[in-house]
Amino acid sequence: MPRIESLVRPNIRTLTPYSSAKDEFTGTGVTFLDANENPFGTLNRYPDPQQRKLKTVLVKQSNISSDELFIGNGSDEVIDLLLRIFCEPGKDKIATFSPTYGMYRVSANINDVEIVEYPLDDTFDICNVSFGDLLSDERFKIVFLCSPNNPTGNDLNREKMLELINSFRGIVCVDEAYIEFSKQESLAELIRTYDNLIVMRTFSKALGLAGARLGYCFAQPEIIRYLNKVKPPYNVSTLNQQAAIESLSNASSYQHDVKEIIRERERLIREFNEIPMVQHVYPTSSNFILMETLDSERVFEALLKAKIIVRNRSNQIPNTLRISVGTQRENDALLNTLKQLQS
Ligand code: PMP
Repeated sequence: MPRIESLVRPNIRTLTPYSSAKDEFTGTGVTFLDANENPFGTLNRYPDPQQRKLKTVLVKQSNISSDELFIGNGSDEVIDLLLRIFCEPGKDKIATFSPTYGMYRVSANINDVEIVEYPLDDTFDICNVSFGDLLSDERFKIVFLCSPNNPTGNDLNREKMLELINSFRGIVCVDEAYIEFSKQESLAELIRTYDNLIVMRTFSKALGLAGARLGYCFAQPEIIRYLNKVKPPYNVSTLNQQAAIESLSNASSYQHDVKEIIRERERLIREFNEIPMVQHVYPTSSNFILMETLDSERVFEALLKAKIIVRNRSNQIPNTLRISVGTQRENDALLNTLKQLQS
């Protein structure tokens, strides 16, 4: 059996997916009397289940073709679907490198899939000495790599990621939610080199559409077919598809915003380094900054009092706060409050 097929749960391999008329018929001038929709109104029709228009726009902006592209209701949906396709509940396992994005664990727990968290090294990079039985235990079906990593902000080393993709027999999903803020090259085009590679992205960060819920991934067509098979038929609403098309069509606007966020990020790093309460500012390639303080609880509370909400990450890395880069005004307010704190 070919490698990807052999990794897929048997019930998903043989699953007959839901099919709607909108999967089969397109075009204008067609009378749709198939889906028990209300014939009146503006949002009365179900969305295009295959998001064809949005895929056309997305494909034009990447060197990927539409059969290598899947669009989900946020990348959180993609994570969940991957677990459901590849992991037998109560039997299979996934691996992550921690500290990292919390939804891999939550999704694994929901799906009753064991998660093994290998530690990142002291520069928050993957190190192959910590692979353990990842390469030999066949119950490991998926490894999630997050680059740039949340909550640490750094890129993972490209060569080390490739080494793992090359040597792991299961699926490697590289989460590039923050790639637009990084200088590191995406792994997207390597989906043609490695049949087990999935590169996941989101509209929630650089494209400014967190409220819409849109995530996507690139992978070889066989994996994309399985994702389409298991997704809810209308997982991306008409409004979301339109919002995404609009955002992509306005590339200069979001590219401008990304540049501004990066400029503000660099200013915040410089200023944080001057604040006595701040012990260490970690290098970042994303739109947030992880910093170690003398007393993260105290700093967190002081910011909260000033109605500034940041993320206390001390449960993952002692005495750290993760701070998203805001507008210039928001960042000024943050800095003013931090500067008033006595060490
Ligand atoms: N991956 C990472 C690394 C994230 O930080 C987040 C959201 N914070 C997501 C995925 C989820 O993105 P989405 O909004 O597309 O579900």
